[in-house]
Amino acid sequence: MSDCLFCKIAAGEIPSKKVYEDECCYAFYDIAPQAPTHFLVIPKAHIPSVSAVDEGNEAVVGHIFAVIAKLAKELGLESYRVVSNIGEQAGQSVFHLHFHVLSGRDMTWPPG
Ligand code: 5GP
Ligand code: ZN
Repeated sequence: MSDCLFCKIAAGEIPSKKVYEDECCYAFYDIAPQAPTHFLVIPKAHIPSVSAVDEGNEAVVGHIFAVIAKLAKELGLESYRVVSNIGEQAGQSVFHLHFHVLSGRDMTWPPG
């Protein structure tokens, strides 16, 4: 999608601090970290949010979770939180599917 910030980041058109990349996903550190470790994992294909996941694109979501588990092991994260906000009321500000991976501090439940 030409007008999407995360499509441009995945394509390398906007710089980011890369954590990992393969043919279908891209991981990079959040520009405004909310924990000592905070990175995002996104599909390279434009999917607006979890609410647009269906039989046609579900494989990339499973792949992203395998990538998250691999990166967490490589980065030595023993405890971490994976979050995806869906819709403005839940806090979504970029409408390209992304999973936040946060680690390195105590976290509260329920989330704010
Ligand atoms: P959301 O609010 O949609 O759940 O998450 C979007 C995230 O993207 C936010 O945590 C925000 O800090 C991050 N973000 C927004 N613009 C940029 C950017 O240009 N570069 C990077 N690395 N992160 C960004
Ligand atoms: Zn996009």
